[in-house]
This record gives sequence, structure tokens and C-alpha cells, in this order.
Amino acid sequence: MSRHYAVFGHPVAHSLSPRIHAAFGRQTSIPIDYRAIDVEPGQFTHALMDFVASGGAGANVTLPLKQAAFTLCDDLTERARRAGAVNTLVRNGDTWHGDNTDGVGLVRDLTERHALDLRARRTLLIGAGGAARGVAPALLDAGIGDLFIVNRTPERTDQLADALAEPDRVHPRYLGDLQALGEFDLILNATSAARDGSHVPAMPRAIVGRRCAAVDLNYGEAAIPFLAWARAAGCHDVVDGLGMLVEQAAESFARWHGVRPETDAVYAMLNSNHDALVTA
Ligand code: NDP
Repeated sequence: MSRHYAVFGHPVAHSLSPRIHAAFGRQTSIPIDYRAIDVEPGQFTHALMDFVASGGAGANVTLPLKQAAFTLCDDLTERARRAGAVNTLVRNGDTWHGDNTDGVGLVRDLTERHALDLRARRTLLIGAGGAARGVAPALLDAGIGDLFIVNRTPERTDQLADALAEPDRVHPRYLGDLQALGEFDLILNATSAARDGSHVPAMPRAIVGRRCAAVDLNYGEAAIPFLAWARAAGCHDVVDGLGMLVEQAAESFARWHGVRPETDAVYAMLNSNHDALVTA
């Protein structure tokens, strides 16, 4: 039976992942069968069983399924365990092995493609969903300074801070208290607010430090509101999530196929078509 790969999410129709993996396959001469599968959260386990029965060997998982994927894995990489969220599934005999490549993808994009030095940056992370869970441990490992986390649902902020288990460096706070938090050197939007037409929560200019970098994990249309705010607020560097998307995909590809694809050409191809991008 031929081996299949997929990205599971809801919604997922506009995902760029099938294009990215097809490009990696052409580059490495590995035949790739990778498609997007839209599945509602309640149907995820069932859909994965069908996928395995038809030759499914590995999958990416996107919103809102990353924490569900974590719970159904039989074993996990250390970075997935710390994240409490899985974006990469590897079929291993009768079991699922879970990894999380979001964090390494983000840090690689910021430090290598955008040449940002993350060390000691006082950081604000907005959001506490699957993506925030994936990137927070990697940012801490990359040497950022204190990490403040805010989220629409405060309980999830506390859960993420507890999971990170670094109380001296990680500070859960309320969204409404942003004004009182001082200036940041790095502000990340890890919410999906713009996907449903909402704006990221109102943010005061006072949180932007002198050489602050603003990073939206979203890209295409969904990144417009936050990055427009960041530019108007005087952020020194403004980065969307397209590079992270390509880098996390390359890391998943390497897990499945044992070959690390080159990413710059794929990033350039997608970036040149930027106006046509919608979020995935
Ligand atoms: P989840 O569904 O797991 O979490 C969504 C997050 O957004 C939660 O923190 C949620 O808050 C918050 N949120 C949603 N709507 C609003 C709103 N109207 N106002 C304020 N907060 C809101 O999604 P993910 O964490 O997996 O993904 C988040 C975003 O990051 C997505 O848009 C996704 O496309 C992007 N992403 C990009 C990647 C890349 O490679 N570039 C990789 C992964 C994700 P609450 O907890 O209150 O519901």
C-alpha cells in the first residue's frame, strides 16, 4: 500500500501545506501524496483510523486539533510533551508518535531568515491555544527574557504558564492589564482572531519598546490587522508567519522522510504570491 500524508484541521481547505510538501517532494525526488482533510473535533479520532486504514503514515495537525492530537499519542518528543500540543504525527507500527515542530520552525525563521537576536528580549505572547503552546517552550530555549502571556480565556493562560513550569520567567496576565505591563522587545500574536473577522484585542502603543519586533503567526489576509497595528505603533521589525509555516513543514518532512528539504526557494515562491495567500 502506498504511504499517505495529510494535514487535519477545521477549517483546512485553504491550507498551504499540500503545496509546500509537494514542493519539498519535487526538490528531494520523493513522491509525495499529501492532502488536506477537514475534520470536526468530535470526528478526529475516527478520521485518523480511516486514514491509517488507507495507508496514512504521517500527518500534520492544525487548529483546533493540536491538543486533541496530543492526547491520542502513544509517545511524544520532549518538545511536544512540554508544549502539550502536537502538530506532527508519525505512524509507528500500531501507535502514533507525536512531535511539535512549530517552535523550532518559528525560532529558525526569526533567527536565520530574519536575523533577529531573541536573547533577553522581554516578550509578550498573545494567545494560549495550540500554536502558543508550541512556540512558548522554543522561545524560552532560544534565550528570551521574561515571557508574559495573555489570552481571551484566562484559564488557558494559567494552564500554559503552569505547563511551562518556569515561574520566575513566565508570567500569566490578564488581557485587560496590558497597559500596566511596561515595554516589550518582542510581541507575538498567536491568536486566530483575524480568521473569523475579529481584530486582535485593543493594544496600547505603550507596550512597544524602542527596538521591538512584532511577529504574527498568521500570514496573508489574517496577518493584516496585527501587523498594521505593529507598524503604526512603531515596531522596528514586523514579521508574518509564512516563514514559520515553511520551516515547521520542513521539520515534519524530515521526520517522515529522513531528508531535510531546503526552504528558501519554497518560501520565496509563496512570498512572491503573497497577495493571493489566505490563512491556513
Ligand atoms: P487554537 O484554536 O488552538 O487557539 C486559538 C487562539 O486564538 C486562542 O488563544 C483563542 O483564545 C484565540 N482567539 C480566537 N479568537 C479570538 C478573538 N476573537 N479574540 C481574542 N482571541 C481569540 O488555534 P492555534 O493556536 O492552533 O492557531 C492560532 C493561529 O496561529 C491560527 O490563526 C493559525 O493559523 C496560526 N498558526 C500559524 C502557524 C504557522 O506556521 N505560521 C502554525 C500554527 C498556527 P481562547 O483561548 O480564548 O479561545
